[in-house]
Amino acid sequence: MKYCAKCGTQLFDEAVVCVKCGCPVENSSQFTPQTPTPEQNANFFTPQPPYIQETGVTKAAKIFMIIGTVVMALYTCCIGLAWCLPMTISYWNKIKRGEPITTGFKICSLLFVNTIAGILMLCDSNH
Ligand SMILES: [Zn+2]
Repeated sequence: MKYCAKCGTQLFDEAVVCVKCGCPVENSSQFTPQTPTPEQNANFFTPQPPYIQETGVTKAAKIFMIIGTVVMALYTCCIGLAWCLPMTISYWNKIKRGEPITTGFKICSLLFVNTIAGILMLCDSNH
């Protein structure tokens, strides 16, 4: 229960105006403090993609793909970039997404980008 601030009449908690004098009554009971809900905090959690095992062989192959691209670019006056760069990017993306590397791609890398990178790819049992 609450009382009218002007005339002191007892009022219901839900009352907006005083029944006796008609003056507006401050309805403090309707005030609810703003507290963060657990749902709001849940937004901070982002699901992680499934962890893909990246072995030393895969890492070495990635590095040799870059080396191969650079070497090929130097030897072919940047013409080699036309196929080395897309192949390197494609290989990196496939590793990142955990997609399997086809044998054809591995052999092409061996022949056209970097021999060592190709051999490493063929030895890489995880991809
Ligand atoms: Zn009143």
